[in-house]
Amino acid sequence: MKVLKFGGTSVGSAQRMKDVAKLINERGRNLIVLSAMSGTTNSLVEIGDYLYKKNIDGAKETINLLEAKYMKTIAELYSTKEYKEKATDAIKSCFNYIRSFSKDIFTMFEEREILAQGELMSTALLNLYLQETGVNSVLLPALDFMRTDKNAEADTQYIREKLTALMEQYPDADLFLTQGYICRNAYGEIDNLQRGGSDLTASIIGAVLEAEEIEIWTDIDGMHNNDPRFVEGTKPVKELHFEEAAELAYFGAKILHPTCVLPAKLNNIPVRLLNTMQPDAPGTLIHNTSESHCIKAVAAKDNITAIKIKSGRMLLAYGFLRKVFEIFETYKTSIDMIATSEVGVSVTIDDERNISSILDDLKKFGTVTVDRDMVIICVVGDLEWQNRGFEAKALDALRDIPVRMISYGGSNYNISFLVRKEDKVAALNALSEHLFKA
Ligand code: ASP
Ligand code: MG
Repeated sequence: MKVLKFGGTSVGSAQRMKDVAKLINERGRNLIVLSAMSGTTNSLVEIGDYLYKKNIDGAKETINLLEAKYMKTIAELYSTKEYKEKATDAIKSCFNYIRSFSKDIFTMFEEREILAQGELMSTALLNLYLQETGVNSVLLPALDFMRTDKNAEADTQYIREKLTALMEQYPDADLFLTQGYICRNAYGEIDNLQRGGSDLTASIIGAVLEAEEIEIWTDIDGMHNNDPRFVEGTKPVKELHFEEAAELAYFGAKILHPTCVLPAKLNNIPVRLLNTMQPDAPGTLIHNTSESHCIKAVAAKDNITAIKIKSGRMLLAYGFLRKVFEIFETYKTSIDMIATSEVGVSVTIDDERNISSILDDLKKFGTVTVDRDMVIICVVGDLEWQNRGFEAKALDALRDIPVRMISYGGSNYNISFLVRKEDKVAALNALSEHLFKA
């Protein structure tokens, strides 16, 4: 059995739902994870914001607009009156539920219940469509088996037990369907796995069921070897190691949610990135082995701030770095890149919320300078240090570009460069030219 996850755009209209139905039918008895229809979760967030602010009219307007979109989808999706009615009832009851919150107090708890409606609606619609077309599909409610523990981590044992017991009740099912993103927390309340969390749902389910493979279906044909928005002629990478995919997901390759790789990696379940619009394209396969001795891809992360702390006291001192890092920890700010010398250290952050407090505290240790509007360019591949020449090649590509920081050797899979925002496109193109066209 495989786990197939479809993102919001893959189920974003009646036609797309029909395409997905065809695709999953052809692939047999698998478990299908769906996101909300594209745009829905954003609208639900907006509705929640209005309700927090007690702007009931604003909330109602957004609710009405969203509801109209669903009614249009229903009109286009089903051919029989019976199923049009069934779907209308299901969707109306979700919208009535959303409307019921405009009356009383509104807290995070109610907000999460609203956010859950997106995936509940997309799965209800597709399930009914499959049934209308004669498929014995079974909708497994994620809220009955997806649970997180007190640390907000997936409670895998619970999920495995509940999910397998549920599936055993339907030996005749042609396929199973469930909601991505939503879950219950340790207190049994409705919760979610954070924005973009459907990938994580698929990865967790794939891991607990020891699935043959996890397929993430989106609207591009895999992870590209560079950013197609800035570089022409990028190509999908055929194969990636889990570690390489994790580096790329974090550094801006938007196709896969960064945390998603972990459960699959730990349980050694291959993840394949595929394109709903081009189902036969090979996509990208992420697994525990990968082609060695080559550079696979380049990605960039924007809005980076570099902070340099220079101090005579650092020379031959111990404990200096700990004190510096503690300041970032105090302000819950994570560090991305680090470069050190005997008399100074540079770090990068992408969250400036507490920067003025951080800078005040850092000034106790030495001279502090800040460079804003920087970009991390990350080169990913088999970069184990015994391999000769790869870092030289990457550096050579950037020979005409001012580089503020370089980080290499942190993992076997990554070398990162920090450049100015205005040099980003040139840097990405130069790297493609040198690394992939030779
Ligand atoms: N619907 C949720 C979101 O938009 C989860 C997901 O699509 O992965 O964030
Ligand atoms: Mg997504």
